Amino acid sequence: MLCRQCGRLLTGDEKAIHKKLLGLNEESCFCKDCLAAFLRCDVRLIDLKIEQFRAAGCYLFP
Ligand SMILES: [Zn+2]
Repeated sequence: MLCRQCGRLLTGDEKAIHKKLLGLNEESCFCKDCLAAFLRCDVRLIDLKIEQFRAAGCYLFP
């Protein structure tokens, strides 16, 4: 799957955090850079959220 904003190939983590933050029914995803821009937050916050979900054992973040 490609980022719907910049067309970059998405990682599993990026697809997962998009689902977590924007919902499971989205058909296209943002990469974390575009997601951060979309949410008007720092990309480091996206990385932090990914680590938090992984630490919590979320199945979307193997
Ligand atoms: Zn992007």
